[in-house]
Order: sequence, then structure tokens, then C-alpha cells
Amino acid sequence: MTKKNHAYWVNKDNIKDTVVEKRLLPLECANNLGIEQVPDYIIIHEVSLGNGRSPATYNLEYYANKILLDGLNGSKIGYHYLVGDKNVIQFIPDNQCAYHTGTDFNYHSIGIERLICEGVRYPDALHNQAKLAATLMIKWNIPISNVISHKETKRLSNKEIKTCPNRLINGQYGGFRLFYREIRKCLKDGDLFYELLPVNNLTEDHEKLINRTF
Ligand SMILES: [Zn+2]
Repeated sequence: MTKKNHAYWVNKDNIKDTVVEKRLLPLECANNLGIEQVPDYIIIHEVSLGNGRSPATYNLEYYANKILLDGLNGSKIGYHYLVGDKNVIQFIPDNQCAYHTGTDFNYHSIGIERLICEGVRYPDALHNQAKLAATLMIKWNIPISNVISHKETKRLSNKEIKTCPNRLINGQYGGFRLFYREIRKCLKDGDLFYELLPVNNLTEDHEKLINRTF
């Protein structure tokens, strides 16, 4: 595969075996809200300590432990998926609410956090986030116009703006323009997390969605 085949010049060898690992939060966790939803939005986040790049210790395992411990300690904050450059972890089922936006979008959306610590290959992590968004669009029949940033949920809800995902909004690696291009490319190529889909092949409905997206 040549570099030009992917908007993010993904190192495909690095991620070809990426699968979604389920580590669903136990019932004792306060961030396992137990509120059902039908998602019609996908919200793009990135985990961050602020403006600087988080150190390598703030890796997938760190955040996977954090969301679990925070929930056991009574925090209701949570999100559905955490994406790295090689791994994806799911904490909350798609049809359950999570408090990840600070707005009413919490009750009808899926939140995807992306890791940005040192050592993470940023383009591969972005690719995985786009691939997951593409997969969930098909699974829940969500149009690409409803794949939005955390910041956008705040703006639409007239809440204080939070610049999340900061790097993508600030245009790193082409920003959201290339991110949407990557989603379209994943849809077109069928580059999806098939383990999350009820069928192994694209159905007619999926093809219609793809056609609508282009
Ligand atoms: Zn966010």
C-alpha cells in the first residue's frame, strides 16, 4: 500500500490486526449509567492533559484503568470507546448513554476518545478513530453530518466552549477536513471494524448509506 492510499498515510502493517476489545464497565461503576439510548450522533474527542502532549505513561492502559476507577469512586463521567494507534477498547455499549459531552448530546450519541500521549503514532490513531466512526455510522445509520466534535456539541447547546479534540480542530494533519476524508475512504474501502457489525458483508442499506455519504 502506498502512502497516497490513505489520507493519514497510515502504517497499515501497524494496525492491520486492530480489533475492538470489550472492557465493559461493571454495574458497580457510577459511569455505567444504565440509561438506554438510540444513538444518532458520533462525538469525536481526544484525551489530553492540556496543550502539551501527555507523557507516554498516559497510555491506553492508564485511561482504561482511570475510567474504571473513576466509576468505582462514584464519577458519572464516561465514554464509549478509547482509540489508540494499535488498540481500541469499548467501555460502554452503544445503546447506553454516557456522560461525555456536558450537554444533552449525552442522551443520544456515542463518544470516541482518541489517545494523544507520547509514543502514539498520531496518524494511525486518527485512522482508527475514523474507521470506528465509519463502522458506527453503518451500524446505527448515522450520516456523516452527525459525526461532530465535542466542541460542536457545546456550541449547539449554547454551553461554554471546550476545544476538544484540540489538535484536530487546530488543523493537525489536515484537521477535520482530512478526518472526514478518511471516514469516507474507510466506508468506500469497507475498512471497518466488522466485529462490531451484525453482519460480515455490507447490506443494501449500508451501500445506500455509503452512496449518500459521497
Ligand atoms: Zn471531549
